[in-house]
Amino acid sequence: MTLIRAAVCHEPNSDLTIEEIELASPELDEVRVTVDACAICHSDITYIDGGWAIEYPVVLGHEISGKVAEIGPHTETELNVGDPVVVSLIRTCGLCLACERGHDVACTGKLRLHETSPIRTKAGEKITHGLNAAGFAEEIVVHISQCVPVPEDLPSTFAALLGCGVMTGLGSVFNTAKVGPDDVTVVVGCGGVGLAAIQGAKISGAKFVIAVDPLENKRHLALQFGATHALDPTEDLEKMIQSINDGRLADFTFVTTAAPEAVSMSMKLLAPMGSLVLVGMPEDGIMSEFDPGLIAARNQQILGSKMGTSRPHFDIPSKVKLWTEGKLNLEKMVSSVYALDEINEAIQEMRSGSTIRAVVCPNSTKKDPK
Ligand SMILES: [Zn+2]
Ligand SMILES: [Zn+2]
Repeated sequence: MTLIRAAVCHEPNSDLTIEEIELASPELDEVRVTVDACAICHSDITYIDGGWAIEYPVVLGHEISGKVAEIGPHTETELNVGDPVVVSLIRTCGLCLACERGHDVACTGKLRLHETSPIRTKAGEKITHGLNAAGFAEEIVVHISQCVPVPEDLPSTFAALLGCGVMTGLGSVFNTAKVGPDDVTVVVGCGGVGLAAIQGAKISGAKFVIAVDPLENKRHLALQFGATHALDPTEDLEKMIQSINDGRLADFTFVTTAAPEAVSMSMKLLAPMGSLVLVGMPEDGIMSEFDPGLIAARNQQILGSKMGTSRPHFDIPSKVKLWTEGKLNLEKMVSSVYALDEINEAIQEMRSGSTIRAVVCPNSTKKDPK
């Protein structure tokens, strides 16, 4: 057992509190990782705001980079203590049907960490291991399958983004939709996941990459990340897309925002044979309406994309390669860097919509150690 500092969420809609908590030692097929960087993702904020059910107290944070500090006894792994890794929430047993099929995001295996949280308060009260990781902390204990080794020269703040937002955005384009050259793509929502999807569509050679966001600064960013057009959703989007694309609507529409109205709006932007790709996850209980007859008549598809249908042990190294080749911009996606004590400020910055990714460095005491 180790004592660590962590940002604990005790109840919905409250500030996180920085506390010393207990972290259990890793057991078989588990590792302890020292957290270098943990980015704040909108899923963390949805839990903090009570939008999804979870047991409190909880430590959130799941977009993580760090170094292996300890490997559980009898664990067979190629990882060594000191290796830099990206940690994601995707945990695989390697034995179930989903794992056999390569569907990492749908693993049904029951591992020890599904039953037991490795973190407790100093008084012995259970703390939920938020999003399988609890990365808003100096150290974490996770299943070995959640750790993917990355090169030493990849800065830790960039690496963290590969754990969720960037992997999800690129994965929705490469894995879920399989966008090809000449496809016309629309990306609705230009936060971290949306900007990653825009970069992915550009890398895939899409004919047009049309970004949609109500915020002017986000539309401006979208153009910098490779969008060919950036539209305000208050405009007549159908008409504008048709005028861009020779009278046709889009082949793919990626909904990367959790705003409920974005889903039905995005469906209307699709050409016959087109696919709506649902990437952002709205709060519990949000419903959308479709005309199923029209979807059938237009031969359209609706695709769910959990974490970009990613297989982290394949997808993270391939994203590192894109970064090495200069095709994937990670640097510009890190908007600001905070120490653990400043995490509420970082969350506020993410809520404001003014930022792409705020990253917390739990083992650094100074702001912006970039
Ligand atoms: Zn996330
Ligand atoms: Zn499995």
